[in-house]
Amino acid sequence: MLTLPNNPLSVILSKNWLLLIISIFCIAFIFAATNFSTLIRPNHTVAQDVDHLVDTKKQYSISNILSSTDNIWEEPSQDLTTLGLSNELHWFRFTISHILPVQSRLLEIDNALLDSVNIWFVQDNKILAEYQGGDTLAFSQRSVAHENFIFSVPTSERPIEVYVNTYSEGPMGLPLNIWTQNEYLEFTSKSGLMMGGFFGLMLAMGLSNLLFFITTRSPIFLMYAGYVIFLGLTLSALQGLGYRYIWPNAPWLQQHAVGIFANLAVCLSILFCDQLLNVRTFNTKLSTFLKMTAYVFLLGLIISLFIPLQVFIKAFLLMFCASGVFILAVAIWLWIQGLAIAGFYTLAWAILFVSGFAVSLNTLNIINFNLPAYYLLMLGAGIETVLLALILAISHNQQRQALHNTQATLLHKERQAQHAQKDMLALQEDATEELEYKVQERTLELEVALRELSETNRELQEKNTLDALTGIHNRSYFDKKYQAEVRRSRREQTQLSVVMMDIDHFKNVNDQYGHLVGDECIKTVANTLKKALKRPSDDVSRYGGEEFALTLPSTDLEGALVLVEQLRAEIEKTAIQAEGISVNITISAGIGTAIADLNQPEDIILALADKQLYAAKNAGRNNVQGSHLDDIQQQD
Ligand code: GH3
Ligand code: MG
Ligand code: MG
Repeated sequence: MLTLPNNPLSVILSKNWLLLIISIFCIAFIFAATNFSTLIRPNHTVAQDVDHLVDTKKQYSISNILSSTDNIWEEPSQDLTTLGLSNELHWFRFTISHILPVQSRLLEIDNALLDSVNIWFVQDNKILAEYQGGDTLAFSQRSVAHENFIFSVPTSERPIEVYVNTYSEGPMGLPLNIWTQNEYLEFTSKSGLMMGGFFGLMLAMGLSNLLFFITTRSPIFLMYAGYVIFLGLTLSALQGLGYRYIWPNAPWLQQHAVGIFANLAVCLSILFCDQLLNVRTFNTKLSTFLKMTAYVFLLGLIISLFIPLQVFIKAFLLMFCASGVFILAVAIWLWIQGLAIAGFYTLAWAILFVSGFAVSLNTLNIINFNLPAYYLLMLGAGIETVLLALILAISHNQQRQALHNTQATLLHKERQAQHAQKDMLALQEDATEELEYKVQERTLELEVALRELSETNRELQEKNTLDALTGIHNRSYFDKKYQAEVRRSRREQTQLSVVMMDIDHFKNVNDQYGHLVGDECIKTVANTLKKALKRPSDDVSRYGGEEFALTLPSTDLEGALVLVEQLRAEIEKTAIQAEGISVNITISAGIGTAIADLNQPEDIILALADKQLYAAKNAGRNNVQGSHLDDIQQQD
C-alpha cells in the first residue's frame, strides 16, 4: 500500500501531490495562526496608546518617573507583542479607561518568560497599588497564582494610569490585555480545557510510546517518547505552565527550561528521523552527519546554561532552521529514492518546521504574527506528534510484516527440507527392502542348490556302494559293513558269522561259454543270494570276481551252516539260461563265527571264513565248511 511505483512520472506526480498538500497546509496554518489569538481570546481589550521608555542607564525609579516630564516617553517603534530580544530595562505607560458600572478587572501580561515585572496603578500621581512579578521570583511570590502575569486593576470610576517596568534576557514581547473578571473566567475555563487536551495528548503519546519501548525494546519508541515529552515540556515552559505545575520552586530551572528541553527535543527528533527513515541503509555518511547534528544540539544544551539567553535563542533558532531544512531535504531525498514512509515524514516534519520557522521569524522580529509564539508551536507540534505516531505505527507494522514474511519463508524452507529428508528415508527404506528381498531370494536359491547338491552327493555315495554288474553291495561297502558288525558284536556280545563264497571252476565256464555267459552266471548267483537272505540285518556283497561275502549278525555257527547249505543247494539246482545255453554251476563257502573281542584283530573272523573257504575247495568243492573262532583257539 505504501510502496511508491518506480515509474519516474508517477514519482513526480506523487511528489507534487504531497507538495500540494504541504502548500495547502502551510497556507491554512498561517491563516489559522493569524486568527488563532482572536479565536481563543475573544473578549479582552488590548492596551492602547502605550508609551515606551528604554532605561539604558537604569536611572529611573517610579518616583522620578512620576515627577518627570512627558517628553522622556516615546511611542514604541514596534508592536508590543513582538518586541524581540533585548536585555535593556524597559518602562511602559498607558491608561486603562474607566467602565461603567464599575467592575473588577485584570491586567494580563501574556509572556511567561519575563524575568522581572514591576507594576504600579496610579491615579492623580498617587500610587493606588503596586505589584512585583517575573520568573526570577519563586512562583509562590506571585500576587495571582497563574502561569501568566496577572494583576488586579483597582476599581475606580475614573481612568487609571499604569506604569510597567520589565526586564528579560529572553523575548521582550509584552502583550498587555485587560479583562473583566467574568470574561477572564470564561476564557480561562476554555483555554484550560484546550491546554489540558493538548498536554494530555502529548503525555499520552509519550507514555504509550514509552510502554511500547518497554515491551518491544525497540529504541525508536524511546526516541519518539523522549522527543514528545521534551517537546511538551518546552511548550509548557514557554507558557509558564511548567513553572506553575512542575518546577514552581526552581527559578533557576525556569530560566534554563526552554534551552534544556528544546535542545533535547530537537536532538531526539533528529535521532528519531535517522532511525525511522533508516538513513544508514541509504547513505552511511548522511546518517553519521545527522547524528552529529543531533549531538550539536546536546552541546547547545550545555552551552545554553552558561551564555546569555538572547544569544542562545538566536543561535538555537538559526541552528534549528538550518537543521530543519537539512532534515526536510533528507526526507524528500529518501522519498524520491522510493522510501514511501519518507513522504509521510516529510509532511509531518514540514508541519512542525513551518510552525517552528514561523516562531523563529516572529521571535527574531522578521515577521509579526501578533500572538504568543507558543500557540503556533502548539498547533504545529500537536499535528506533527499525531502524524509521527501514525508513521511510527505504520513503520513498525511494516517491519513486523517483513519479519513475519521472513519467518514464513524460513518455515516453508524447513518444511521442504523435512519433506526431502522423508523422501530420502523412504527411498533408503525401499532400497533396504529390495536388498533384503534379493538376499532372501539368493539365500533360497543357494539353499535349493545346496539341497540338490547334497541329494546328488547322497545318490553318488549310494552309487559308490553298489556293484555295477550285479546291483548288490560292492567290496568297499562290505569293508565298512564288516567293521560296523564286528564292533556291534563286541559291544552287544553277540555271535557274528561271516561267509566267503566262490564259484567253482569258473575259469572253465568263461573259457567254455565266453565272458558274457560268465557275467550272467555271476548276476544269477548274486540275485539268488540276495533273495534268499530274509533278515534285514543280513547282507550280501560282491567281494571280487566270482567271490561273494555275507555278514550274518547275531547268527551262530549252526544257524549259518544251515543257511549257507541251503544257498549252496539252491544254486546247484539252478540252471542258468544265457545266450541260448543252459549252464549249471556250484559254489563253495567258508563260514567264520565269533563274538568279537577287543584283544583280537578286527579282520580275524573274515580270515577264518577265508580259511574255511579254502578248506571247502580242498574238500572237493560244492561244499560248505564252517568253524567257530573259539574252537580253533582251543585246538591251538
Ligand atoms: P576254483 O574252483 O579253484 O575256484 O577254480 P576257478 O576256475 O574258479 O579258479 P579261480 O577262482 O582262480 O578263477 C577265477 C576265474 O574267474 C578267473 C576269471 O577268468 C574268472 N572271472 C573272474 N571275474 C570274472 C567276471 O567278472 N566275469 C567273468 N565272466 N569271469 C570272471
Ligand atoms: Mg576264485
Ligand atoms: Mg572259483
